[in-house]
Amino acid sequence: MLNFKNFIDYVESQNPHEPEFLQAVTEVVEDLIPYINEHHPEYADLKILERLVEPERVVSFRVAWVDDQNNVQVNKGYRVQMNSAIGPYKGGLRFSPTVNLSILKFLAFEQVFKNALTSLPIGGGKGGSNFDPKGKSDNEIMRFCQAFMTELYRHIGSETDVPAGDIGVGGREIGYLFGQYKRIQNNFTGVLTGKGVQWGGSYIRPEATGYGLLYFVKSIFENENDTLDGKVVAISGAGNVAYYAAEKALSFGAKVITLSNSTGTIYDKDGFTHEKLTYIAKLGRNLESFPEKYPSATFHAGEKPWQFACDIALPCATQNELNEADAKQLIANGCTCVAEGANMPSTAEAIKVFHQAKIAYAPGKAANAGGVAVSGLEMSQNSIGQQWNSAKVDDRLKAIMENIYKTCVRYGKEKDGYINYLKGANLGGFIKVAEAMKAQGV
Ligand code: GLU
Repeated sequence: MLNFKNFIDYVESQNPHEPEFLQAVTEVVEDLIPYINEHHPEYADLKILERLVEPERVVSFRVAWVDDQNNVQVNKGYRVQMNSAIGPYKGGLRFSPTVNLSILKFLAFEQVFKNALTSLPIGGGKGGSNFDPKGKSDNEIMRFCQAFMTELYRHIGSETDVPAGDIGVGGREIGYLFGQYKRIQNNFTGVLTGKGVQWGGSYIRPEATGYGLLYFVKSIFENENDTLDGKVVAISGAGNVAYYAAEKALSFGAKVITLSNSTGTIYDKDGFTHEKLTYIAKLGRNLESFPEKYPSATFHAGEKPWQFACDIALPCATQNELNEADAKQLIANGCTCVAEGANMPSTAEAIKVFHQAKIAYAPGKAANAGGVAVSGLEMSQNSIGQQWNSAKVDDRLKAIMENIYKTCVRYGKEKDGYINYLKGANLGGFIKVAEAMKAQGV
């Protein structure tokens, strides 16, 4: 019999000083251990959980590059190859000064379950660097990406490990990384996803995480015989995920009242329009000036969006951006649904508040799986040498998100009818990976 506390003590002793990784593991095994003890005691003998929390491989490397002032700069580079039971390692690269091994291991661990939920044959991984892209010139970004790939290339491949973007890594960076891979390997192959549509990329990949998030939220409301029409939505973040989530929410008739970045939050009492969103995209990091053009809005320096009354909260910025106090405030203001566009944006205490209040809480590993799902579709298109049109990719994305929704309901519905989407996602993702590990032997 597995014991939750003993297992967490074991993970902590094996991975000291890795709080984010421990947080992600705790959130998952809390649901898995009772299930394993009841339905699959053999997993304990096979040490499936001990194996799941130990990356198959962690690569750590030096990235040296020259900045515009001709100074040599040195950064850390990593790739965590977490689990390949159901397919090649798959997951993004994050470039941010906050990157460390604990963060990448939590992200890689989450990715294993998320990728399994998509029903596509992709394992889990994550990588990145503590490089800070903010304030860097285009040439510096290019030189950094080239230096990063000059080491990473030997560890990845279209059938081995297929990185993509994450925070700080978008279409431009994927282009520079891909160019360097191709130069070194003399091989035009689907080794990265998130490529441009003219050179092997998939339609709808930039939109996929935000759109997928809204498809998932739509299913939550449909399950209650409700729609998103007229619902008030608070979104954090102003990157790719937040932007396309806002767009899709508008097209479903919802009113989006906030977007944010690390400098603060824009609150627009009239809600954003497509025109306002386009303007925000042009502003870049300078959200503060938005109210000058649109006086229905106010800018709240250094504040998060969770103080504003909404029906739906979509944290789309980064890990642990929504804490217990934020969760209580959201519920006090009438919020009935929290769905995560970012990875692990809600703290463990915030999640407890959502569950106790019995509001719908959709964890990132289910709700933001649309991004990696379309990455998986990009891999399929690359391997058959074809490109599908936007409508076909969008239809497949919708079908995948609906399927994830159903999986969460199947494994997460409790006796009183409350749907614990976190439990559903954890069990739904785990079962597939565990069975594959069992079949493939030790
Ligand atoms: N970084 C994204 C995620 O967190 C996408 C990964 C991918 O497309 O491989 O799921």
